[in-house]
Amino acid sequence: MERINSSLSAWQGNEDLQQRLNQTKQSLLKSPHIAQFLREQDQVTDEMITSGMTKLYEYKKERENCDNCPGLKRCPNLMQGYQPELYVERNHIEISYHACSLKVKEEKQKQEQKLIRSLYIPKDILAASFDQVEADSERMQASKVALQFAMNAKPGEDGMGLYFYGKFGVGKTYLMGAVANELKVRGIETFIIYTPDFFREMRQAIGDGSFQDKLEAVKKAEVLILDDIGAETTSGWTRDDVLGTILQHRMLEKLPTLFTSNYDYDELERHLSYSDKGGTEELKALRIMERIKHQTKSVLIKGENRRGR
Ligand code: ADP
Ligand code: MG
Repeated sequence: MERINSSLSAWQGNEDLQQRLNQTKQSLLKSPHIAQFLREQDQVTDEMITSGMTKLYEYKKERENCDNCPGLKRCPNLMQGYQPELYVERNHIEISYHACSLKVKEEKQKQEQKLIRSLYIPKDILAASFDQVEADSERMQASKVALQFAMNAKPGEDGMGLYFYGKFGVGKTYLMGAVANELKVRGIETFIIYTPDFFREMRQAIGDGSFQDKLEAVKKAEVLILDDIGAETTSGWTRDDVLGTILQHRMLEKLPTLFTSNYDYDELERHLSYSDKGGTEELKALRIMERIKHQTKSVLIKGENRRGR
């Protein structure tokens, strides 16, 4: 920026350079970003453009960086994740910066990560992708369904989710990781929650006053993955007031929820009907299961235990 500034003052009074200044100005004016700014701000005069050329130059360059955005981590802008904006103040063109959409999204995710501790992505699953999924014949069907979901999910319009069940180690969580990664590419945010930890966390949250905030965040996640449902100790309260509330909201808002479980629907229903108060609460378990069944497609994943191979 400095260089242009000093060159600009050196140009004054020199005809040859004056011409070059004009050329630079014309090329700036050709930029679609600057043209749009000028269309929106009709009070901008020719003098204001001449005196604001360094600002216009900076704006054009940074906005073009955004046009070719290489992702937040490799953002080449002066301030990473910040996008320039032009405005007019006291007859001068001024520039200011605001966080770009990627930066805003990252900040939001950091806040959520702080809020919900059971939000997690296991290390090997962080890298899970459909390119690497070994889709042997036993897992083929599940991989297909998972990929289909990831490619077509429309949170807010279609609330249909998935229910992957099968034995320990067959790759249920791995596939969900691949789904989450694919959704991320499409700009859809997914919460992967380890259900037993989450219910424990919610019980503690009552004590520290964070219950409502946590519940709201999980209710509203674009896509929610409840990993390992059925592995938790059931309590009537987590079943009805946590799980039930979350599923009710998500059903009304058409937000998809995905589950993994060692249990099929019937086994999960039985699990959910055991009450910590003793006795069984079949009706309440049935009500939750109806919501889950209504909102998911169930897929059995077969195959050998892949852990520790
Ligand atoms: P589950 O959730 O069914 O208990 P996981 O998803 O944790 O099983 O998978 C067990 C292990 O096998 C993990 O270490 C995972 O990385 C690996 N794995 C599972 N499915 C695949 C796959 N389709 N391709 C490659 N690795 C996989
Ligand atoms: Mg798992």
